[in-house]
Amino acid sequence: MVQHSGNVMLNFFCIFAYMQGNLKQLVMFDMDGVLLDSMPKHSIAWTQALKEQGIDIEPDFIYLNEGRTGKDLIELIGKHTDRNLDWTSVYQRKTEIFKQLGGACPMAGTLDVLKEIRKCGARSTVVTGSGHSNLKEILEGFYPSLLDHENMVTAYDTERGKPYPDPYLEGLRKTGTPAGKAIVIENAPLGIQAAHGAGCFVIAVNTGILPDSVLWNAGADIVFHSMAELAPAIHRFLQTGSEPGLWKTKSSGYLIKRPWLTARKDHVVLPDGHENPEHWVIEYSDWVNVIAITTDGEFVFERQYRHGLGIVEYEICAGVIEEGETPIEAAKRELLEETGYCGGEWSLEMVTCQNPSVCSNLTYCFIARGVEFASGQNLDYTEDISVHLLSAKEVHSLLKADKLKQALMTAPLWKYFAENPLTE
Ligand code: CA
Repeated sequence: MVQHSGNVMLNFFCIFAYMQGNLKQLVMFDMDGVLLDSMPKHSIAWTQALKEQGIDIEPDFIYLNEGRTGKDLIELIGKHTDRNLDWTSVYQRKTEIFKQLGGACPMAGTLDVLKEIRKCGARSTVVTGSGHSNLKEILEGFYPSLLDHENMVTAYDTERGKPYPDPYLEGLRKTGTPAGKAIVIENAPLGIQAAHGAGCFVIAVNTGILPDSVLWNAGADIVFHSMAELAPAIHRFLQTGSEPGLWKTKSSGYLIKRPWLTARKDHVVLPDGHENPEHWVIEYSDWVNVIAITTDGEFVFERQYRHGLGIVEYEICAGVIEEGETPIEAAKRELLEETGYCGGEWSLEMVTCQNPSVCSNLTYCFIARGVEFASGQNLDYTEDISVHLLSAKEVHSLLKADKLKQALMTAPLWKYFAENPLTE
């Protein structure tokens, strides 16, 4: 077999993808924290400029609000502190301090990402909330001829900045690119939210101080930890078909709407205009389940008859979120009602769905560590539940032997064992 060098293989894949029409056309880069290694200095400059106004802010606040235009950020701080700040003078002072700190430098690894994108035949441009006067010169100096400056979007191009999708929609409009054919590279939660809202595939690169979960929750499709880590991977994200668009519902009606079965028929329109007059959705309320572990480290399990499969099996506690309840309130109530256990430290382990194509509800899976027996069960007439305490090893062996059939329970249990492996 012939050994290809990485580059030859990369070019081959890009040409193949291009011939198939399976190539993203445009990559829109956020600027601060992606193209420029500037956020630590921005954070210091903001902190100092605001301190001069008698306002103390934490760096987290700057990172959480990164992507807002200077005006939006100052107005937000004014609102929070009940102060009428003159945004132009505060912004000017902040810019001055930023310059004194030495200004921006290129982000390590970004040059390689831009070169890979060019090799694949896609374009790169910039979408930023910055209103800096000589952005083009700075960026061209760091990344010569690699960025499409004609179609750059800055603070002056849209009335509403990030987290609204407007700046990214403007980037798509300027370049004439459908949202499905564009990728956005962002480092900040508000920018991710904006790009996701514009319908683009979003690569988040966590170059800041926030935990990854903030970026995932903002709508990131994948998270990297540096531009250098992204550089050898970017071609795989470019060589994909168009990002699928959302369906629109033309009309909707119910076949049945009963407490335990609600079937909705939607007449839907696909992004390409095709219509399906009959897409069925089974609606349920949201559900909860609980991996409850006693102070002795035993898992609180139940056995009950399940009529769908006609079997008696092991399960963890589960139930429906009642009207007006939060997921955790429902989970605590269900655990006490079904097993008589309560207390302990609670955390959300997973939010999942049995089948997103045809079901509309979510299941919130909790872990309760250190629960204790408080009282007897309080069951509905359809519930015939016996309570069983199992060791971690026994639960693990039930999972391995495929003895737990409820997928919404096996998912968080397997996650639990991935994060807390058996020691022996
Ligand atoms: Ca940024």
